[in-house]
Amino acid sequence: MMFREALSYDDVLLLPGYSEILPRDCDVKTKLCAGVSLNVPFVSAAMDTVTEDKLAIAIALEGGVGVIHRSLSPEEQARQVAVVKRYLNWIIETPVTVSKDALIRDVKALMLKTSVSGMPVLDKSGRLVGIITTRDIRFCADDDLPVADVMTKDPVAERGTPSPSSARQKFDERRIEKLPVVDTENRLIGLITVKDMEKHDLYPNASMDSSGKLITGAAISPQDYEVRLPLLVGVKADFVLLDTAHGDTQNVVDAVRAIKKKFDMPVIAGNVATKEGVRRLIDAGADAVKVGIGPGSICTTRVVAGVGVPQFTAVWDCAEEAANANIPIIADGGIKFSGDVTKSIGAGADAVMIGGLFAGVKESPGREIIFDGRIYKEYRGMGSLGAIKDGSGDRYQISKDEEPSPEGIEGRVPFKGELRFFLHQLVSGLRKGMGYCGCKDIAELKAYRKFVRITAAGLRESHTHDVQITQESPNYTHI
Ligand code: IMP
Repeated sequence: MMFREALSYDDVLLLPGYSEILPRDCDVKTKLCAGVSLNVPFVSAAMDTVTEDKLAIAIALEGGVGVIHRSLSPEEQARQVAVVKRYLNWIIETPVTVSKDALIRDVKALMLKTSVSGMPVLDKSGRLVGIITTRDIRFCADDDLPVADVMTKDPVAERGTPSPSSARQKFDERRIEKLPVVDTENRLIGLITVKDMEKHDLYPNASMDSSGKLITGAAISPQDYEVRLPLLVGVKADFVLLDTAHGDTQNVVDAVRAIKKKFDMPVIAGNVATKEGVRRLIDAGADAVKVGIGPGSICTTRVVAGVGVPQFTAVWDCAEEAANANIPIIADGGIKFSGDVTKSIGAGADAVMIGGLFAGVKESPGREIIFDGRIYKEYRGMGSLGAIKDGSGDRYQISKDEEPSPEGIEGRVPFKGELRFFLHQLVSGLRKGMGYCGCKDIAELKAYRKFVRITAAGLRESHTHDVQITQESPNYTHI
């Protein structure tokens, strides 16, 4: 009997090729799914020790994206999505305002309650008549004066749809800190603040939607999408991820179809590891497909169930099928080093999803643990006993009153400091790989497809050998 051989990242290396490009000049932008682009091809896993709002903000500021996990209640998950979406404002669409007839004492109370330092002043029909800031009220001794007597009248405003450059010019020329946006009737439609513009300048590589807000996604399941989706649409999540351990099933296919029919929201579906699985999800309407059965660092599926496909082959096969339909593939799990990212995209993936490597960063929600004098962070599989107890059983088709049979473990990973420094190492590794292969962008790396198969001796030679490491490196740990 002959079986097909399947390979994992450690079994292969990309062949170096003639290059005219420097790593720093390589373009690592990618398409995640319809309508969603990333500046770096990294997605953080929808796991309760990896992605909540803090990490989703941190990764989006650096050009990637986070997927907020679904062991949170639908309301809490939607709240966290809203926190990410609010973090970078280009134009505040519903700014705090005050009526021109209100009293200074009302403004002071409102400023205290909302922590807002300046607000547009409106007349009864919502037209902009002034602006009042802490500067205006600082020397106003009479709290009973109407706002109209103290405000700055006829403030500088932007009419219609402003551009960042015209807004910046007004801030500089007029030395103001808040710029109201009005329509042709002078009705207020938004507010731009100098603080928000400065935040944008600090993160030039952030992944943003068309209105300048950070991009984020949220995980849902075939069982809960009807409850979660209306809330997620309401807070303007950029995409949802149908997050299951086995995506090639009737209930996932049916859920993709139903969501695409009822909601205007990109859907990433998974996980699968075969061409047939990819085809069924694409036929159902998936906007991207996530690949990986069993490669995860905390995963025991292959051992417990005896099923899976080594990740390099899974990505290679699935990417071939998805390319026929021009649908992106996300390689999920099994990334140990930055070189695995290059191999994964070289095998045809458009982006990688990472759990374990991100669980150790400061912004992840896992607990910090001190062990043997070193700092670690908690990291557990969503199919581990602890995670199942906290509500993730349906990912593994385990019902609430059933004795759980886990497909993952609970553990710890070394603390890595802030995400941006660690992500920089991953992105740099990818760029180096692209430089060695002469691929100037992700499309060229996806099309490159030149690998060599290596032996155990080759893998041993690839890692550091015959030496003791005396100074740890930020992008390598000897295994
Ligand atoms: P890692 O980056 O190698 O740690 O893999 C993370 C991926 O493992 C996640 O994105 C999930 O697809 C998968 N995963 C998460 N929890 C479990 C589990 O308990 N069992 C199997 N796979 C899991």
